Amino acid sequence: MFNRRFARSRINIALWFTVTMGSILVAFAGVIYYLTILDELEDLDRLLYKKTSVMAVNAEYNWLTKQVNLENVPLVGTNTPPIGTDVVYARWYSSQRQLVQFFGTTPPSELTVSPGFSTLETVNNDTHTQTAPTPVWLRQVTLPVYQSELLIGYLQVAIPLAPTQQELAQLRLVLLLIVPVTIGIVGLAGWLLAGLAMQPIRDSYDQLQRFTSDASHELRAPLAAVMSNAQVGVISKSSAPSQQRLRFEKIVKVAKSMEALIGQLLFLARHEGQLTTQSLVEVDLTSWLKELADNYTSQIATQTTTQNVNFAIKLPQHTVKVKIDSDLLQQAVVNLLSNAFKYTPAGGSVQLRLFTRFHQAVIQVEDSGIGIPQSDLPRIFDRFYRVDSKRARKTGGFGLGLAIAQQIVRAHGGEINVKSVSGQGSTFQIQLPLA
Ligand code: ADP
Repeated sequence: MFNRRFARSRINIALWFTVTMGSILVAFAGVIYYLTILDELEDLDRLLYKKTSVMAVNAEYNWLTKQVNLENVPLVGTNTPPIGTDVVYARWYSSQRQLVQFFGTTPPSELTVSPGFSTLETVNNDTHTQTAPTPVWLRQVTLPVYQSELLIGYLQVAIPLAPTQQELAQLRLVLLLIVPVTIGIVGLAGWLLAGLAMQPIRDSYDQLQRFTSDASHELRAPLAAVMSNAQVGVISKSSAPSQQRLRFEKIVKVAKSMEALIGQLLFLARHEGQLTTQSLVEVDLTSWLKELADNYTSQIATQTTTQNVNFAIKLPQHTVKVKIDSDLLQQAVVNLLSNAFKYTPAGGSVQLRLFTRFHQAVIQVEDSGIGIPQSDLPRIFDRFYRVDSKRARKTGGFGLGLAIAQQIVRAHGGEINVKSVSGQGSTFQIQLPLA
């Protein structure tokens, strides 16, 4: 049982560790990617600005004719050699924003955009190739050109974004490979660290289990001696005065209760973990429960406290095959039944039911008793937990019955749970996997 819980906790810790570290890693990768985009764009803009400025200084303003001579402006001018092949287009607009001259694709006749950088998408309509038009991303700058503080026009130049996009795509690929690999390594590290961190807990738990088992075992022999001696004292009525006999009876009662407690503790310490397949036998739960209920009915018939509680049994017509350790499961069901009778006052009812649901056999023990307050429900299966120690003490329980039942059911790979309304009754439910 603890092994299963230990493994579950280890998985949880490793998972949380991976999720936390993974989120940080992904956020970090995102920031790196974003900063790289900004950096690349800045480099590109610097280059574009430099190119455009170099072109712009070749524009000459004639103060007499008030005309701009663009002859020496690379690309835009008439007989100038291109300064590089990467410029997609270059356009000269007059200071009144009217198109004067251009190189590359035909531009609008009027400048509508304001000066500065912008990114735009155009369609590549290459008539030489037969391929369908593809979208092309461009970075464009519109530069106002001044000569002696007089605005003589605007130069607009665009270069392709493709090389920058390729670099970013490469970075994306690298990040997409690195991030999952790193998360995998983090997960593995988390798993190993969780194992290391839990080892001392596991050791001390094992030690505690061993101690409980050994101590209970060692206590049994002296207790048996106390009890047998006290019993002798009770039996020899003739010799002992009545007061002394009462004392002996009290000793026997206390010793019996201690014997029950020791038995339960020993049970909890020894029946830890999943049951092996050898100890499990396939049975028909319908007939098995019928027999158990019959035995239980004849057993409670003699007890005055349970005589006035109505006991009903509802079993299915068909067989319900499950693999169980008969003695252990009997103990679990009997624990639930005796609780139901213990906490149901005269005139009430207890019902034992069996049915199947989603590949599971469901055993229910329902009573119309005092119920369990909502706040106590989460702790009801804890060892030594009693809802109200005063009310429980009267009934003689140690608060171990449900812990034992839960341990048994879980050892069968099943689950036990409870629904209860204070003052109205409780329904305990055991779910077991069908064979
Ligand atoms: P105990 O031996 O004290 O009955 P259990 O582990 O069997 O210990 O139960 C724990 C506590 O849960 C009990 O002390 C009781 O307060 C509460 N309880 C268990 N079953 C019922 C029930 N059918 N109706 C009301 N209270 C219950």
